[in-house]
Amino acid sequence: MAEPPRSSSRRLKHWGWGYEDQQRPAHEIDEAAAGIRAMLGFGGEVQAAKPLDEVELRTPRLEAPADEGGLFSSDRHDRAVHALGKAYRDIVRGHRGEYANPPDLVARPTDEDDVAEVLERASDWGAAVIPFGGGTSVCGGIEPRLANEDRPSVSLDLTRLDRVLEIDHTSLAARIRAGCADRTWKISFANTT
Ligand SMILES: Cc1cc2nc3c(=O)[nH]c(=O)nc-3n(C[C@H](O)[C@H](O)[C@H](O)COP(=O)(O)OP(=O)(O)OC[C@H]3O[C@@H](n4cnc5c(N)ncnc54)[C@H](O)[C@@H]3O)c2cc1C
Repeated sequence: MAEPPRSSSRRLKHWGWGYEDQQRPAHEIDEAAAGIRAMLGFGGEVQAAKPLDEVELRTPRLEAPADEGGLFSSDRHDRAVHALGKAYRDIVRGHRGEYANPPDLVARPTDEDDVAEVLERASDWGAAVIPFGGGTSVCGGIEPRLANEDRPSVSLDLTRLDRVLEIDHTSLAARIRAGCADRTWKISFANTT
């Protein structure tokens, strides 16, 4: 069986659930809209999601440090994806292009040293750091909506921490890094016997 594409090679939708290549075809959306109109007697107007290049995204208040490993990103798509969770209100806001609280930077550590570097830099910047797993929070957990609106923020994306470190075959206990969830097909087993 062919290996599915690595999740790192696929971009998440900037506004909603899943990946960009998982958008339903236009004819299916039109059919669904017609079904809604027929059932309810109103509504069912199709509206396209606001394209990312038309979204007004606050200018990052932090500058991504130059580094070869790509630890920090201030890319528009990265910041939009990490700005909202997946509650209905998040989907609606993303679809409309309303990103009131984008993180200033997104950090993608690959090991504990990277995590320490992110935390140290964030401390120097006075920035909040918000862990990001799959980004499916439905209660605003990943959105950098801070009491102090002037405080910058860094979204700490854990998806590159994708290794199983240790398995105890007797007790069936394992040490698994935080980014492994829902990515079992690409887990690489390190230090296991
Ligand atoms: C359609 C849909 C269906 C769902 N169904 C269910 C369900 O049936 N049962 C259920 O329990 N939930 C459900 N959820 C909610 C959501 O999927 C879960 O809460 C999920 O477990 C969140 O995991 P995540 O990796 O996406 O976390 P994220 O959304 O990335 O983060 C959630 C919160 O945890 C923090 N966080 C993330 N990783 C870490 C870490 N390593 N250390 C410390 N803090 C961290 C984040 O900062 C945030 O506050 C559903 C959501 C959707 C959109």
